[in-house]
This record gives sequence, structure tokens and C-alpha cells, in this order.
Amino acid sequence: MVNSCTVTAVSDKKSRQMIRRARKQSPGAIVALCGCYAQTHPKEAEKLPVDLVAGTGDRRGFVELLEEVWRSRRPAAAVDDVFSRRQFETLPAGGLEGRTRAMLKVEDGCVNFCSYCIIPYARGRVRSLPIPRAAEETGRLAAEGYREIVLTGIEISSWGQDLKDGSTLIDLLEAVSAAGGDMRLRLGSLEPRTVTEDFCRRAAALPGLCPQFHLSPQSGCDETLRRMNRRYDTARFLESVTLLRRYFDDPAITTDLIVGFPGETEAEFETTLAFLRRCGFAQMHIFPYSVRPGTPAAGMEQVDMAVKEERAARAAAAAAELHRDYLLRQVGRTVPVLFEEPGAPGRWRGHAPSYMVVEMPGEDLHNRTVPVRLTAVEGDILLGERAEEGERDV
Ligand code: SF4
Repeated sequence: MVNSCTVTAVSDKKSRQMIRRARKQSPGAIVALCGCYAQTHPKEAEKLPVDLVAGTGDRRGFVELLEEVWRSRRPAAAVDDVFSRRQFETLPAGGLEGRTRAMLKVEDGCVNFCSYCIIPYARGRVRSLPIPRAAEETGRLAAEGYREIVLTGIEISSWGQDLKDGSTLIDLLEAVSAAGGDMRLRLGSLEPRTVTEDFCRRAAALPGLCPQFHLSPQSGCDETLRRMNRRYDTARFLESVTLLRRYFDDPAITTDLIVGFPGETEAEFETTLAFLRRCGFAQMHIFPYSVRPGTPAAGMEQVDMAVKEERAARAAAAAAELHRDYLLRQVGRTVPVLFEEPGAPGRWRGHAPSYMVVEMPGEDLHNRTVPVRLTAVEGDILLGERAEEGERDV
């Protein structure tokens, strides 16, 4: 079973290769393809050596169909019209091994149509998990022993848009926080428009909310943002960063950036670099722009690969510097660290509320939250020592 991605043309190619390899390795097996590539390219997918093609909808139905194909040995395809979906498909929330952190998907779909992105065609309109279901799932995860819950979705800032009762992401957060007891709560990627004074005031009052906010400008230059069809400018973005800094104590503001977007000039890129420094991101993921056929940006004037790579390297150097600055600022603080796995010999590894990796000497701290005094930076991680209970400052 290949659960495909279609975010770049390279991911499409990888899915096709994987299908061919599976068929070659196991000629008698049922080979099934599902996910975003199958959803956006159903005709292309049906020409592959597969027995079943399904898209991104009706995941429970997919399992039944798979069994049916197994029994009948007859190929089948089930790809719906993605824009006809209106209901959020609830699936049981799952966690990572060890019951430390669970992902709760609260939203699907996006209709922002950024000019480089295929996702709206793969996921359709915004659909939200209603508050009572989200609270119920959270309670269940807490009872199962999870210590942290991450609210995820395609574009969680749009959560509630389809419910038409006026509720927004902050209402969901408050309900989930109440249902989760002392579980930590973390948010997936946010759009700057969500971060308002009201959002920050209410979010800062939630005891378990981790002060890590992933806000992705994708570019720090207004002209580039316009070509990207992003729905904000750098001034609005900066307003969100300033609000978060006002309401949270040195929050980790993390981000994604695309470099070498079509038409990006050297001057535009320099503007972006200066903007990154101004925002002081704690951690960044940098992507050289990759053409996604079928999107408006694919038809725009492209930047040479060598230029994209050179800009990616310069952005990565700035990101490394900013990351180190953030880590160094944490030294001396005491934070509750949720420990997950063994680290370097004799140490345990976990995450601070800021999602920075922390290691501390100790034995079997699995799934325990311990106050840690941060003492040093070692490469990409923070080192610490056990602090007294009540010594936490976060
Ligand atoms: S907001 Fe995100 S998912 Fe939606 S179109 Fe833009 S990049 Fe794609």
C-alpha cells in the first residue's frame, strides 16, 4: 500500500517508482495506491501496475475496498470529486510509539490557493472536527497516558470556517485544553491572520499550551508574497510576531521559507534575509522552490537551479545563526522537559515546551515531565540538569 504525497513533482515520481518496485518484488501481491497523488492524478495512477487506486477521502471505505479487491482479485478505483466533500472524516487519533506525543487531526482542506501549491486540489474545502468530538478524543488520549497533544491539519487557522457557528481556533484550543487536564498542548502551523490580540490573550491563559508557534511567511518580501498569492504582507506578519512576543516569554517562533520562487530577484531575496533576522526565528526549514506542475507558479519565469541552491545555503546560514542565538538565550532557564527516549550514553532526551531538544543525565525518564535547568548548548541541542520541583520558570 503506497500512501502517496503530491506536494512536489519529485514526490509523484517517488510514488510511481515505489509502485513499480512493489509490483516487481511481489508479483502476486495486491498493490494499492492512495493519498494525494492518486487524488490529483487518477488517470495517470490507473495506468500504473496497481490493483486499487483511492484518493484522500473515505479512508474507512478504502479498507473495505482493499478487502474486496483481495477477495475478488479484480482491480478497482475510488477517487471522488474532492470539492464535493463537506464533512470532516473522523479517524482515531494516533500517537507516536511510547505514548508521549499524540497527533490530533482537527481540520482538513484548504482553499487559499497559494500559487505554488497543489494541496487544495488534493484535499478540497475546509472541514473541521467539531469541538465535542475534539474534547472527547483529547480525554481518551489523556486516559491512555499521552503527555502531549499536537493539533494538526492542512490549514488549522481555518478551523471552524465550515461550522458556521462563529467558533474559531481559540475556542477549540480552550475546549481541548480543558479536556486534556495537565497534558501539554502544541499547535501545528498557523497563518498570521489567526494571531490577534484576543487569540494571544486567551492562548496565554491556557496552562498547558506550549509557547512554540510555527508561522510560515514563505518569503519576507511583499512583491514575492504577492506572486505567491499569500494573503498577508510582511507588516501583518510582523504584527503577529510582536503580539506573540508580548504575550509569551521568549516563545519559539519557527518557520518555513521558500527560496528561489519564480521571479525572485537578488534584491527581493536580500529583503527576505533581512526580514528573517528581524523576526528572529528560533528554527527554520528552508526549501528551494520546486516546480509543481498544475499550479500557476509553474508557468512563471523560473530562477536557475544554481541561484536557488546558493540562496538556500545563505538562508540556511542565517537560520543556523538565529537558531544558535535562541538556544543560547535559553541557558540559565528552568523548563519542564517531557522525556521521550535515550540520548547520548547516560543521558535522556526530550523536548522543552519550545520544542527545542534537551538532554539530561538520568535513567529511564521515559514519558516523564521533569523540571530541568538548562546549562549549555551542545551543537543543536540544549543540555541541562535536574532542578528542584517548583523551580520551573515556564
Ligand atoms: S495555505 Fe498552505 S496548504 Fe493552503 S494553498 Fe497555501 S501553502 Fe497550500
